Amino acid sequence: MKTHILISIILLFILALSTNLITGFRIPDLDHDPSTHFPNFTSFASSPWDYFKNFNGCQIGEQRNGLAKLKQYFHRFGYIQEIPISNFTDSFDDSFELALKNYQKNFNLDQTGILDDQTLQQIQQPRCGVADIINGVSTMNSGKTSSNSHGTKFHSVAHFSFFPGQPRWRNRRLTYGFLPENNLPDTVKLTFANAFNRWAEVTPLTFVQTEFYYNANIKIAFFSGDHGDGEPFDGVLGTLAHAFSPPNGRFHLDGSEDWMVDGDVSTSTLRSAVDLESVAVHEIGHLLGLGHSSVEESIMYPTIASRKKKVDLTVDDIQGVQVLYGSNPNYNGSIPSSTTTRSHQEREESNNGNGIYNLGLSYWAYSVFLVLVTILLV
Ligand SMILES: [Zn+2]
Ligand SMILES: [Zn+2]
Repeated sequence: MKTHILISIILLFILALSTNLITGFRIPDLDHDPSTHFPNFTSFASSPWDYFKNFNGCQIGEQRNGLAKLKQYFHRFGYIQEIPISNFTDSFDDSFELALKNYQKNFNLDQTGILDDQTLQQIQQPRCGVADIINGVSTMNSGKTSSNSHGTKFHSVAHFSFFPGQPRWRNRRLTYGFLPENNLPDTVKLTFANAFNRWAEVTPLTFVQTEFYYNANIKIAFFSGDHGDGEPFDGVLGTLAHAFSPPNGRFHLDGSEDWMVDGDVSTSTLRSAVDLESVAVHEIGHLLGLGHSSVEESIMYPTIASRKKKVDLTVDDIQGVQVLYGSNPNYNGSIPSSTTTRSHQEREESNNGNGIYNLGLSYWAYSVFLVLVTILLV
């Protein structure tokens, strides 16, 4: 009998090793507790913004405890210009209603000016830390009316946007490097390479990894909390990452997120799992000079749900980046497929790469195996 149980356990152990259930990863150097080197099964999809659901139905003239926090949120993403934020009160005033209506417009919601259910759900979504309105100018072009060269007004179908002044890179060959202290495994680096490739396919730009982080055009780093640029990260979910406009090149990701590197993120056991490539493709858009878009399907839309993969450039993204850089001579005008062509070297890296997650899986499965065998023997 014991033999049967032992065989069953061994089979389960082999099965666990052969599946790819665990692909989450956290940056080891940022987590001092060794247990968090592996996926954090105790983390819930709670966000620093869950609190805002308490404001359901709130509208002009009302006073609600904590509404000042929501004003800070709107201030952070550019919808309220008032400074200092310590002056914010808990009253739903005219200026807050205006900010809310602008937010609703940018996110294609009914402009009710009320904190309705739809609006609050949108507000609580994990999102990019880059503001939607910069220096008072909305970078989201929802319903924008434009003029053509003949002075005729027309409703613009394009929703892509740029940073104020339309900054862009002068070089076509851009280097990127990873903060050495993060010690990222090759599989994570490959995810970034794939994300860069998606933009390289439609532009004349090329992206080359360099070992010289401090000299790279684009500097990629995972940080937790305050990391010295005035844009502190906020733990699990909330803001996920931010990047600066050209030619700054800083690209920061929140090291506290449960980043998923491969496998099907939609079936992750982690409710807080965030797809790394999806976020990387979005932030690279900023690094190239794109602002946020109101097109929900576009890569440059500011929010992304946890356990969602969104890596394909849409027409809106492609048109936007091609205004800045022109087209890749090999780009045939069709929407790139979801499968990015990898170089021979990248394929080799992928095949050989034994990242933290695989190591984590072996460690996890091995531990379970040992515990079960111990129980059996006792
Ligand atoms: Zn963004
Ligand atoms: Zn930062």
